[in-house]
Amino acid sequence: VFLTGAGVSTPSGIPDFRSVDGGLWTKYDPCEVASVSAFRNNPANFYSWIRPLASKIMDAEPNSAHIGLARMENAGFIRMIVTQNIDGLHQRAGARKVLEVHGSWDHLSCTACFQQFESENFMKPFLMNGEVPYCPQCGSVLKPDLILMGEQLPARVWLEANQASKSCDLMIVAGSSLEVLPVAGLPTRALDNGARLIIINQSDTYIDVRADLVIQDELSFVISKIAEKVMGN
Ligand code: ZN
Repeated sequence: VFLTGAGVSTPSGIPDFRSVDGGLWTKYDPCEVASVSAFRNNPANFYSWIRPLASKIMDAEPNSAHIGLARMENAGFIRMIVTQNIDGLHQRAGARKVLEVHGSWDHLSCTACFQQFESENFMKPFLMNGEVPYCPQCGSVLKPDLILMGEQLPARVWLEANQASKSCDLMIVAGSSLEVLPVAGLPTRALDNGARLIIINQSDTYIDVRADLVIQDELSFVISKIAEKVMGN
């Protein structure tokens, strides 16, 4: 089981919006715009905050880390990719068994009638003019199917992620500093059930001390090398 975070997608040009303290997000405090109560109070502010990220997600292509992981998953070496990323790049690289524990940018849901829509249909006017998307059925504001601060993780996905972590023989954490709960607790579940743990990340994590192997190197390079070794080409 792989547990992936923002570091997998930064080579595709998608910034880690939680750790950005310069550039696009200096105007906003994520806690003030990216919480579920902030969204309810001021959806326009939320959409204006997420617009630069949305634009990067729409332009991004999977990189060699996504591709290496998808190849290993397709060949049966990876049982599950649990990801904190919302960009859909694992799936676009061809991975099929992906659990998006923080939700996804791919869909929007109506805050009143709960009808779900594909984001793509609303992206053009949103990205071009900042138009907030409204429900074509009832006219209420649409919310991206992302897990905002203060929101529960999706129950079924979270249950599956827990089960996968408890029953794997090896967990590899890739590109996550494991700072966001409750996802950061998954490696502990794996270890407590006898799994080995490998951490591939540019910076230290709280659980490095319990890992069998810690690799602090360029992630897409490391994943490509693992895929090469495992797949034999
Ligand atoms: Zn509606």
